[in-house]
Order: sequence, then structure tokens, then C-alpha cells
Amino acid sequence: MTELDDLLQSAKDHALAYREAVAVDPKPIARDYHTIRDSLMAAVPELGAPPAEVIEELVAIAEGGLMPIAGPRFFGWVMGSSHPAGVAADWLVAAWGQNAGYHTPTPAVAAIEELAERWLVELLDLPVGSSVGFTTGATVANGVCLAAARTGTLLQAGWDPDADGLFGAPPVQVLIGADAHSSLFSSLQLIGFGYNRVTKIDTDAEGRMLPAALERAIGKAAGPKIVIAQAGQINTGCFDPFAEIVAIGKAHGAWVHVDGAFGLWARAAPGLKHLTAGIEGCDSWCTDGHKWLQVPYDSGFAIVRDRAIHQRAMTQWSSYLPTIGQGDRVPSAFVPELSRRARGVPVWALIKTLGRQGIADLVARNCAQARRFAERLAREPGLRIMNDVVLNQVIVNFGSGSAAERKALTEAVIARVQADGVLFAGGAQWRDDWVMRLSVISAVTTDADIDVSADAIIAVWRGVQKG
Ligand SMILES: *Cc1c(COP(=O)(O)O)cnc(C)c1O
Repeated sequence: MTELDDLLQSAKDHALAYREAVAVDPKPIARDYHTIRDSLMAAVPELGAPPAEVIEELVAIAEGGLMPIAGPRFFGWVMGSSHPAGVAADWLVAAWGQNAGYHTPTPAVAAIEELAERWLVELLDLPVGSSVGFTTGATVANGVCLAAARTGTLLQAGWDPDADGLFGAPPVQVLIGADAHSSLFSSLQLIGFGYNRVTKIDTDAEGRMLPAALERAIGKAAGPKIVIAQAGQINTGCFDPFAEIVAIGKAHGAWVHVDGAFGLWARAAPGLKHLTAGIEGCDSWCTDGHKWLQVPYDSGFAIVRDRAIHQRAMTQWSSYLPTIGQGDRVPSAFVPELSRRARGVPVWALIKTLGRQGIADLVARNCAQARRFAERLAREPGLRIMNDVVLNQVIVNFGSGSAAERKALTEAVIARVQADGVLFAGGAQWRDDWVMRLSVISAVTTDADIDVSADAIIAVWRGVQKG
């Protein structure tokens, strides 16, 4: 056997053992970050070691320190399950060693990514011809879309931000819902807009942007404008009223962007699509592959209606790079990277494996499971569902008394649930309350997992009340 054969066999055996174990017994973290870090830190090795030993050591280091995100009862954050089809496709991507930045030197992966682009636009029912940049995640995808928005709005105002930067440019007004995801502020920081230089638009109890508040604020804003809306609020799962937001944005010449890191996938499920009505009128959309599509990390999509603007905001060119034919799609022209792995390949593999029907069923199933979770929990006294469960997110507050007393109880429940390890759930602040967050977004979660998890939470809650 060759060395590669040995290594891949060993990696496969370990990977398989892990996935089989996590599927039936998604154990909580046994060795925490500090323990692992302290046991691991050492000087740079002077001499190398046989790779087979390195892989064995890697497995030993990770033992007890892997979060069961690929397991069936991980509801902690909005994270997909790294589907086997994507894992296998990614192994080939690594083995092929293709640098996916350009199309002609690496034709197979470039063509696959181009097809994945088309399929994504079709599945999400966005305007035909929209471009997709394959990024590491939604944070970067939001940044890419906002960079395109910066180019688009400033060119219209007679300024070229790509050539001349932002110093001296007409100020761009950014209007963003008050319950936007934190990552958007890091995207705004990165593209030179600043995370504080925004106008926050009031939202309703679920976190939906109020059109009347947008109308008032945008009326006062002069110059180029960007409106940032949201499909799928991180705690409640709610959707902004896109038809109204687009109408207001367009009436004021704004670029309208949507952060739809997970919620955009509601568009792929016929029974949920109404939640996104009007979203097709926006100018850019971001979503993730490593959330609902179950692609392994890392996978995000920056989708822009105006292909030319998207490319203009991202393109680099040098004499040593291949020339670009008319109509050719260059993978690096839609992301802020040149060399990268062929991120479109596992995306292609997942769409091919699930099909339109499988994706629709998965999204609908997870949402039905979230409702099931909420209904089961709501029957227990002292426990309150704090959101309108329209998608896959359920937030729960425990106990009575002041917000501080309820926070202490809710934190106690979360800590015990995490220690017991039947399921994983985290916490967050929502309005005045600390809540347990449950995100149902895994292809391996069954209805039975929901029932087992709800019963485990209820048992912990009863125990916490006894003290
Ligand atoms: C997860 C998420 C993000 C950030 O996405 P990453 O893939 O983690 O970079 C942004 N917005 C929303 C609504 C999210 O759920």
C-alpha cells in the first residue's frame, strides 16, 4: 500500500468511528478548550514525524473535545450537520488539490461551481442571471454583497469606490433593522462603512423591521443609500416584510440587501415560501451552505442581481493570470480571494443528493419539528415559548418573578442540559429576557430526537425547581 492509501484508510476509519458514535450518542464536550490547549502547547517540532503518526495524534488530541454538531440533537446554534455527501465530495476536493480561483486552468471544478451557481439561484427563486460568490460563510458573503452595494450606489452618485476608495466619497447612508445579526456590523466595519455609522430601524416584538419606521428614516437620509433587511432573525426566525421594504427602498433609490443566512432557504420550501414574498425585488442576498443545505464547513453564498457590479467590486487581474473569454465565469471574480479550495463542489454534491424535493422536505421537516418542540415544551408549567415559531427557531424562558430571577433559572436549566448531554442548547438575551435557544436545522434530526430532547429539558426544569 502507498503512504496515501494508509493515511486515507486511517482517516476514513477514524471519521467513520466518529460519525457512527455521534449519530447514536452525541456526547457533550468532555475535555474543554483550556484543558486541550494546556496539554497541547509545545515548541515547534525540530524534526518531522511520519504522517500516519501525526494523524493518530490528531485523533487523540480531538478525543472528547468535539462538539456534536453533526449529531441529531444539536440545537445550540444555527448549524447544519455536514452531510456525508458533502464530506465525501470535500475529501475529493482536498485530494484533487485544485486551486479554484480561475476557470481555464481548473476546468472541472470551475464548471461544477458554475452549475452550482445556477442551481442555487433557481432553488432560491432569485432573478435569473444573478451571480453567486462562494465564500467561507454568511459573514463574508454579507461583506461581499455590501461591497457590491457600495460600488453600485457610489457609481450612481458619480464616484468610483473601487478605484478611489472612500475618502472624499459622497457619504452612503446605511439603514439596518434593529435586530440584525451581529455579523453584519463586522461586514460594515470591514468595507469601511463603520459599525456605528448606521441608522437602526425600529422592529416589532418578533424583530421584524417596521416599514413606517424605515419610511421615516429614509426620508431624512440624503445621498446614496443601502437598506439591510433580514430573512430569519437569529432568535425568533422572523422575516422582514420585504415587499414593503423593497417598495420604500426603490422609491428612494436605495440598494436593498438581505441577510438570509438560514432563512433564505424558506424560499426552497413551497409551504414556507410566502414568508419571503417580495424578496426577489432586492438587489443582493446572502445565505449559507453550511446551515440548511448541510454542506460541511465552510460554505456561504453572496448573491447579487447585478453581475457586472458584483464582479467590479471583487475582480483582480494581472498579466500572469489567464485571460477571460466573453461569457466565461471566473470563480475568483465574485469573492475577495484568488487561491481557494473548490467550494462549489460539495454544494453541487448536496443539491444533487437532495434534489429540489429533498431540500424542500428538509426545510419543511425542520420547521415542523421546531413547532413540535415548542408545543411539547409549552405544555409544561413555568416554561414559556417567547417567539412566534414561524420557522426553525424556538426560544424559551423558565420560571416566574423578575427578569433577573428568570434569567438565573433559565441559565441553570441550560447549564444542566449541556452537562447531561442528551441535547445541546445555548442561551441568549432576547428583549428583556434571557432565553434558551433551540435551532432545528439538521438533516439527521428525527421527530423522536425532538421528543427525547423536549422530555430531557422538562426533566431538567423539574429538577431545577426542586433545587
Ligand atoms: C449564521 C448567521 C450569520 C453569519 O454566518 P456565518 O456563516 O457564521 O459567517 C449571519 N446572519 C445570520 C442571520 C446568521 O444566522
